[in-house]
Amino acid sequence: MENYKDLKTIQKDLKEGKLSLPALVSHYLDVIKKGQDLNIFLEVWDEEALAKAKEIQEKLNAGTAGRLAGAVIGVKDNICLKGHKVSASSKILAGFESIYTATSLDRLLAEDAILIGRSNCDEFAMGSSNENSAYGAVKNPLDVTRVPGGSSGGSAAAVAAGMCLMALGSDTGGSIRQPASFCGLVGFKPTYGRISRYGLIAYASSFDQIGPFTHTIEDAALLYEIMAGRDEMDATSSSEKVNAFKGAEKKPLRIAYIQDCLEREGLSEEVKKAFNQEIQNLKAQGHTLEPVSFPLLDSMIPVYYVLTTAEASSNLARFDGIHYGYRSKEAKDIESTYVLSRSEGFGMEVQRRIMLGTFVLSAGYYDSYYSKAQKIRRLIKENTEEILKDFDLIMTPSCPSVAFPIDSVKDPIAMYLQDIFTVQANLTGMPAITLPLTTADEGLPLGIHFLAAPFREDRLFDIGARCIHEMA
Ligand code: GLN
Repeated sequence: MENYKDLKTIQKDLKEGKLSLPALVSHYLDVIKKGQDLNIFLEVWDEEALAKAKEIQEKLNAGTAGRLAGAVIGVKDNICLKGHKVSASSKILAGFESIYTATSLDRLLAEDAILIGRSNCDEFAMGSSNENSAYGAVKNPLDVTRVPGGSSGGSAAAVAAGMCLMALGSDTGGSIRQPASFCGLVGFKPTYGRISRYGLIAYASSFDQIGPFTHTIEDAALLYEIMAGRDEMDATSSSEKVNAFKGAEKKPLRIAYIQDCLEREGLSEEVKKAFNQEIQNLKAQGHTLEPVSFPLLDSMIPVYYVLTTAEASSNLARFDGIHYGYRSKEAKDIESTYVLSRSEGFGMEVQRRIMLGTFVLSAGYYDSYYSKAQKIRRLIKENTEEILKDFDLIMTPSCPSVAFPIDSVKDPIAMYLQDIFTVQANLTGMPAITLPLTTADEGLPLGIHFLAAPFREDRLFDIGARCIHEMA
């Protein structure tokens, strides 16, 4: 079967009778089976997906199918689907079943999407390589010796391996955009509050946002449009109007690129080269590109890790060995139930972050860490807004390197630096996208990253559609 890269072609072939939905789902199930070694899916909802395929095929025949008929979607294992297991790739949620469905999934299902399974990720979405999963690392399908990125590594790898057309991830500091960059995909994080977080297992609530992995801008825009919008179940969801993407504009864009990025230590030569090349390409397309400086660049990672660990320490307090999933067999009383269940149930990275977060929130250190970080978060937001007064977009590389070999980054701080270009969007709540515009010397993909003002997702789709079509 053809390796479909966009929904429009699938829908066209379904309409013309060249393809049936049950055959398409069987094809994906086959690819999943053949690629089991990649460790991408923790669970495949095969029977249910096939049954749905039959049902939606009938709707297609009757002309009553929804806008996502033909879309087969992988779901990160931290988004809840009623009656299905969800574990955030953690042992502490082993055996836990969701008692309700996330609003994002509800909206996709209402348009006849098929959900094919839950994909592996870093435990509680904490990581940049998918090596922090309690269920083992995921291999990058483009080079199996390398990581697919994280934390939504399974979702990115599933789309890159052709196991589904699209996938959902969550992005707290880059977890959609970094794996999309490592796997050669479009990865999109909407404005904070655009897509309801109801049913997303919380990591850092003031940063988390759900978003799609796709091959094309049109598909990213469609999934976004369907999932976005106010939800009574999430008080932080926005009622700002969501516009449908109608295709690229003609007007040249004003793009700022952060000069300090290029001067950073640790930025690989190939990324620098590809980024400079992209600046030239965009200029050649008629856009205005100007360097800007962003002196707070080096504060972003420390601020992000102080604030997200603080929020995580509070969010993860609910996993106490009583309310959910795992309980230690050695537990004898309330104290040992908490201590043993949490020590045995959480992996090392999650424990490290809970301890860090508890520390920065503790009475003696609150002012010097947590409140200081909040203040710098505000400055980062204000400086970013300042740049966006004069420019439509801010451009950076997506990541400092291409996908790195499995087991090669052992120092947690070095791993945290993976997020240097992506956290700005989460610290400011602004929307951002990575586009698979270029490859590095070894032929591995490398994303280019754009950030826009709040609720200006249209500008990200616009630049994406222009650049990706230009390449095709
Ligand atoms: N790598 C970042 C972290 O470990 C981002 C994670 C995410 O976006 N969920 O926190």
